[in-house]
Amino acid sequence: MLRKRIETVSMGETAADIAVLDARRMRNKSYMRRWRANAKRRDRERVRRVARYSELKSLAARPESQKTDHEGTEGVCMICRRRPPVREITRLRVCESAPGGFEKVLIPYCGEC
Ligand SMILES: [Zn+2]
Repeated sequence: MLRKRIETVSMGETAADIAVLDARRMRNKSYMRRWRANAKRRDRERVRRVARYSELKSLAARPESQKTDHEGTEGVCMICRRRPPVREITRLRVCESAPGGFEKVLIPYCGEC
C-alpha cells in the first residue's frame, strides 16, 4: 500500500515532537482499522454517514438568508472544529459511486491536530 505522509511540521517543532505525533497517528490509524473490522460498527457508521451527508445536502440547498452566522464550515478546522484553519488538506470520503469507493475532498485544517 502506498502511504503518503502529510507534512504538518511548523517552525519550532523538534524531531521528538514529530516522532510523538507520528506515533499518535499510527496508534489512531491501527485503532480505527480494528474498529472498522467489526461489521456491526461498519454498518452503523454507514447509516450515520448517509444520514449526515443528506442532512448537509439539505442544509446547503437552503437559501443564504436562512443560514445563521455560526453555521457552515468556514473559519474552523474541520478536524478539531476549534482552531482557525491555516491551510486545506485532502481527505478521502466514502462515495459509493466512485471507482475505488472513495472521493477526495479538500477540508480546512489548523495544522496542529
Ligand atoms: Zn484542528
